[in-house]
Amino acid sequence: MSDKSILITGGAGFIGSHVVRLFVNKYPNYNIFNLDSLTYAGNLENLKDVEHKENYHFIKADINDEETIDSLFQEHQFDSVIHLAAESHVDRSIKDPLAFVKTNIIGTINLLNAFKKLWNDDFEGKRFYHVSTDEVYGTLGESGLFTETTSYSPNSPYSASKASSDHFVRAYGETYNLPYVITNCSNNYGQNQFPEKLIPLFINNIINNKPLPVYGDGNYTRDWLYVVDHAIAIDLVFHEGKNEETYNIGGFNEWKNIDLVKLLCKQMDEKLGREKGTSEKLITYVKDRPGHDLRYAIDANKINKELGWKPSVTFEQGLSITIDWYLGNQEWLNRVTTGEYQSYYKKQYQ
Ligand code: NAD
Repeated sequence: MSDKSILITGGAGFIGSHVVRLFVNKYPNYNIFNLDSLTYAGNLENLKDVEHKENYHFIKADINDEETIDSLFQEHQFDSVIHLAAESHVDRSIKDPLAFVKTNIIGTINLLNAFKKLWNDDFEGKRFYHVSTDEVYGTLGESGLFTETTSYSPNSPYSASKASSDHFVRAYGETYNLPYVITNCSNNYGQNQFPEKLIPLFINNIINNKPLPVYGDGNYTRDWLYVVDHAIAIDLVFHEGKNEETYNIGGFNEWKNIDLVKLLCKQMDEKLGREKGTSEKLITYVKDRPGHDLRYAIDANKINKELGWKPSVTFEQGLSITIDWYLGNQEWLNRVTTGEYQSYYKKQYQ
């Protein structure tokens, strides 16, 4: 007997697949509906290990399709939503901002409207959980941290679209009493990440002896979190977080891009049995990304103090697990780096 019907959007993507796996395995009494339109970033192969489970259901649908979304809510009576579906890559947003407006803003509003219509003010025991990014806060200087009260100042079309969706979720809470919670998380890394993002892209390039394109002078700084730890935080906030609250999630783990790339090169040389310094020779500085934020760093003390969450692995451990996974899954890498991704990659870096 199921006691919850949870819609997880974007479950075939990187973070979503880890969230779906955790919920399907940990909560056999919940019905987990993974809704995903399977864009270039969605890959059902990511969920092979749970797809046979009775409490897992996949729905191929586009959150931009208002009518379909509405009727799916009516049909399945979702009592909670964990919303991850998004266009997620900053470089793509610079080339095609409108796609980000459609999915990240309008798609989110479609979900909010369908949720609101279904429960018609009877929100007892219901929850809309919006998964967002620290990029909404804009950039930091050399010091300081983003807290939950830092004002929004997005600089890329991606972060502007996510900031807008956060505002809409909050506005539905204020205007219609829709019960929501938002988390803003730092950069994730780990298994199943599409190799357009820094860590899997560079792992793939090192395997294939291709250049490692580092933006600008490499001094851009990010906080990095292992994706499984993000999924654990989402589970915790979903069950124990307070409505109408925001929680920042981060790894307490700031790295300048160039230092991160050097650490990655060192671990790759060791794992591939290559001479020390071999992979570093592939580092190539490339023209900077427009509107590139200098530094993101998260103050994750609220979730740490209120809900007792902290990362379970160090960066060195998480990176090592991640590299081992990509080395052991080179067929997965080969499959996703063909087709549409290849032509995009050429336009971007060659
Ligand atoms: P991803 O690009 O790997 O996955 C996104 C998923 O959404 C894909 O499966 C894709 O098919 C699906 N999708 C895209 N457009 C859709 C649409 N119109 N309808 C239905 N499904 C659609 O992204 P990710 O890195 O897993 O990020 C997931 C969420 O977490 C996003 O909301 C992102 O903003 C947020 N986030 C990501 C990071 C990060 O470092 N990756 C950090 C903080 C927050």
